[in-house]
Parts: sequence; structure tokens; C-alpha cells
Amino acid sequence: MAGRTMGKIIGIDLGTTNSAVAVMEGEHAAIIPNSEGGRTTPSVVAFSKDGQRFVGEKARRQAAVNPDRTIASIKRQMGTDYRKSIDGKEFSPEQISAMILSRLKKDAENYLGEPVTEAVITVPAYFNDAQRQATKNAGRIAGLEVKRIINEPTAAALAYGLDNGQSQKILVYDLGGGTFDVSVIEIGDDLIEVLSTAGDNRLGGDDFDSRLVEFIVREFQKAHRIKIEKDAAAMQRVREEAEKAKKELSFAENYNLNLPFIAVKKGEPVHMQMNITRRMFEELTKDLVNRTEVPVKNALADAGLTASQIDRVLLVGGSTRIPAIEKKVTALLGKTPSKSVNPDECVALGAAIQGGKLAADSYALSTDSRASQIVLMDVTPLSLSIETVGGISNRIIERNETIPTRQSKIFTTAANFQTSVDVKVYQGERKFARDNKLLGNFRLEGIKRALAGTPQIEVTFDIDVNGILKVSAKDLGTGREQQITITSSSNLSEEEIRRAREDAARYEAEENKRLELIEIRNDAENLVYRVEQRLEEEKANMPRDQYKKIRADKDFCKKLVVKSTPEKITDIQAGEIKEAARRLQESAAELL
Ligand code: AMP
Repeated sequence: MAGRTMGKIIGIDLGTTNSAVAVMEGEHAAIIPNSEGGRTTPSVVAFSKDGQRFVGEKARRQAAVNPDRTIASIKRQMGTDYRKSIDGKEFSPEQISAMILSRLKKDAENYLGEPVTEAVITVPAYFNDAQRQATKNAGRIAGLEVKRIINEPTAAALAYGLDNGQSQKILVYDLGGGTFDVSVIEIGDDLIEVLSTAGDNRLGGDDFDSRLVEFIVREFQKAHRIKIEKDAAAMQRVREEAEKAKKELSFAENYNLNLPFIAVKKGEPVHMQMNITRRMFEELTKDLVNRTEVPVKNALADAGLTASQIDRVLLVGGSTRIPAIEKKVTALLGKTPSKSVNPDECVALGAAIQGGKLAADSYALSTDSRASQIVLMDVTPLSLSIETVGGISNRIIERNETIPTRQSKIFTTAANFQTSVDVKVYQGERKFARDNKLLGNFRLEGIKRALAGTPQIEVTFDIDVNGILKVSAKDLGTGREQQITITSSSNLSEEEIRRAREDAARYEAEENKRLELIEIRNDAENLVYRVEQRLEEEKANMPRDQYKKIRADKDFCKKLVVKSTPEKITDIQAGEIKEAARRLQESAAELL
């Protein structure tokens, strides 16, 4: 049993552009404002030349004039071996994220007036094992015990109080500053399950800002014949003003842009003034809004649902305040989305609610409350498999499988008297292991000497609530077992996941064909083994002619099998083997 929790468990939304922290106050989750009074904190870290470190708004503001010493969007690098070098010192993504978490922790401690040591941190539903581990490690570096890693859409559903016992299917549309995620979630009696995820890792509010910046710079040049692109400080002011304009245009039809002293021409200061309308903004960003369409459709298709089967749509992320986005979502799903919870706060609020449940559990005060019963279910972003004969990726856990999960399959040996097997674990949708990503491998030794196909080796994949994978292989004959925990090797980005899925779809027909050829060869090989064994056993009991005929058919088939390899088998070879196996099957029918 877990020990008593000392303080409160805070909920942290560690975002790509902005982060937020929340805590339970009585029955309700509340956002903890930062020391500058902000309800979200930019996920930006900066190092000044005199060795100071800034996190948040201050770091963000000086980004354009100090790009080499500023780090933004570090979340994209989580789980990779990316390093940022500052003054000859290298920083890992975990360390940089830890700086953001430390600031949030400190803000929470100031607000609560007590030390904070425990947190629930959210991650995108598609985050793989390495990315989740890295997030946990970042927490640890920041001095936080990460009680649970939960998925962002799941947290959003908790913030909406949708774990109220009513079964429903929900689509979470999350457009933040730099990323777009869609998740379909099913809420059941006592569990929340992520059915599918999709998105675009390179689409967010920043792109909307950029469209306005480009427009403003163009218009300014037309009016004054001044190019300001090279002036980093001026561009930073334009960028800030563009974001402000965008936000205003979510509520107003017009924005009067005003940037005095933006440039100097012939010794005279030049001011930037223009009127931007919502219609102009919508024209400039129409294609960005449309780009969210395909991921929504993919998420629905992956969940096996149509838009009309979705009971509720939740808007998450600051950019969903853009009216054109809301209109798009309404059109795509055929219903008005819910937006009663602040879209840039709801993930942190949900994390705090989960923190509250965990605290309640460890106090064991509320054994009968729904809070302690709810189970969070997430999904695997890509299929997990092991390599088997012929280089085939044999899936143990399918993509979009609910976690935690544990699944086993029985395998056997491919050669006679084989006493060890190599277990190679892959992640990806392709049919052949070489096209997927190798996560790790190990060898199971000490298998009892036996003919090929006799030993029974049980391979188990076990993914825990935090999405961490353990693979074990057990020889059921001897009870010998070997296992590994997959940690930092699985550093796939969302981009790679998307590519892996697309590749899988593109190569599917070709790979199915190859699989068929390999299967023909494998079947023939097994048939030859079986006939060889039975033929020697029955030799004395059968007419000599029959024996000779079967042996000739068997030898011919075996020769063809041996001449080919599973990796390189051609159509013609497979055709010949199929025919030889058919003849052998016929002549040896009595034996089998
Ligand atoms: P998030 O990462 O969820 O905090 O989202 C941040 C993004 O939301 C940034 O690109 C903000 O500019 C954008 N955003 C915040 N408020 C608004 C608003 N009122 N209208 C449009 N975009 C907004």
C-alpha cells in the first residue's frame, strides 16, 4: 500500500507552447496563477549572458533578440537524444522540461504556502514509452514524484466532469500554440478509454500568428517601402502585436494595430498603423483551419465511428477560441462543441482532479466514492510485435489498444535442437520487422533440445498505466524466463508515428503479397518435416513403391524450399513450391 500523502498532488499540463498548473480546492479544481499573475506560463526557457535563467513570459519576450540562448517547444524533443548547448554545457530535453516544472512547482508552493512534492503530469495520447519516461524523469529532476502520467484528452474529459457514470463517446479537438491533436474517448461505467488519436504536430496558434505577421510586413512595405524582416526587435514587436490582434479578433470584428516607432526612414521615426478585420484574418488563415479536417476524419475512422455517433465534442487549447475553428468543428461533427471550461486550462484542471483522486486513494478515506474507482485507460500509439521466421513482424499488441494491457502469444523454434531464441521487439505498422522500429532485444537461453516446432515459448507484452512496456519470454517446458523493460530506446516522434501509419497503408498490398509467398514456403517446410518424421516411422508398414514415391516428392519439395530463402523468395519459386507441396500432400495423405 502507498504511504500517506503529505501534501497536495498538483496537476500539471506541460504544454508545447504554454503550461498550466492546478490543484483541488475542496470539491473543485482551480488554476494556480504564476508569480506574474498569469494563468498559463509559456514553456520557454532562456539563459542570460550573465548566467541567469528565466522561465515563462520573460523568456518568451526576449526570444527573438536572443534566439541562441532561448529554448522553446522542448516538448517536441522529449524522448530523443537532442541536446541544447549553452556556454559549453549540454542540456537534455528532460532537464529543460524540468526547469519549466520547477517554476510551476515554485509557483504552486507560493500559492499554497506549503511544499509540493507530488504531481500528475499530462502528455499527448500519442506519446510513446520513451516520451512518457522522459516526462517522468523531468518531474523527478524538478523534485516532483510523478504519481501518474495521464493523457491530455482524458484530463479534459475529467475537467468537464464527464466521469459521472453516464456512458458516452467524446471527441476532443485540441488546437494549442504549436500542435493539433484529436482524440476519440469512450466513457463507460467506471473507465475512460481513448479509442483513437490523430493530429498534426506542426499546426497551431503560432501559424495563425505567422500569417498575420507576413501580412503586416507586406502591407507595411507597400505603404512605406521599408523592409523590417531583418530587424529582430521590430519583428518581435510585430509578432506580439499580431498575436494580440488574433486574440482580439476572436471577440471583436476589428482590430486597430498600432506600433509606434517601428522603423526609421531618413532620420524620421515611422509608425505602423493599420486596421485588421476578422474577415481579413479568416481569409489569411482559411487553409490552416481546413487542415484540421483530415485528422478529425482519421480519428473517427480509427475509432470505427461516424460523426453522428459522437455524443459530445470538447474544445481544448487556446486556439479553439478562434470563431472560424469553432465553426469548422461544428460543421465537421454536426453539433455545437462544449466550451464551458476554459480551453487552455481544462487539461491542467483534469490533471488536478486525477491528483485529487490519487490523494483520496492513498488516504483511503473515500473507498466508496466514484473518485477512487475510476480507471484511466489510454491507448498504444503503434502496434508492438516481435520478429519471427522470415523477418515477419508478428503483432502481440495492436495499435490503439487500451492500456494498461497484458497480452501473450505462444511461439516455437524454427530449427531442430535450437536451445536459444532471440526476442526482438518492434514498434510500427509494417508487416516486416526491418521496416519497423527496433525497441530492444534479448535472448532466451536454455530451451530444452527438441525438434523444430516442439518447444513452447510464451512471449508476454505488459504495458502499465504509465504506458511503460515490459517484454518477457518463457519456455513453458523448462520454466526458464527472460525479460526486459523498454525504456529510452523508443524515441519516436509524433511525426514518425504519423509516417509509420502512412507507410503501413501505402505498402500494405505489396507486403500482403510477400507475406503470402513466405507463408507458402513456411507451410511447405513444415509439411516436409512432418512427412520426413512419419515416413521413417511407417517405412516398414508400407509398400516399397509407395515409400519411394513419397520420398521422391518429399525430396523434390525440400530441395525447392532449401533453395529459396524467406527474405528473397520470388513469385516463381513460391509457385513451384506450392505445386510440389500439393503433390506431396497428395501422395503422403495417408501418413498425415
Ligand atoms: P495553449 O497552448 O493551449 O495555451 O494555446 C495557446 C495558443 O492559443 C496560442 O497560440 C494563443 O495565441 C492562442 N490563443 C489564446 N487565446 C486566444 C484567443 N482568444 N483567440 C485566438 N487564439 C488564442
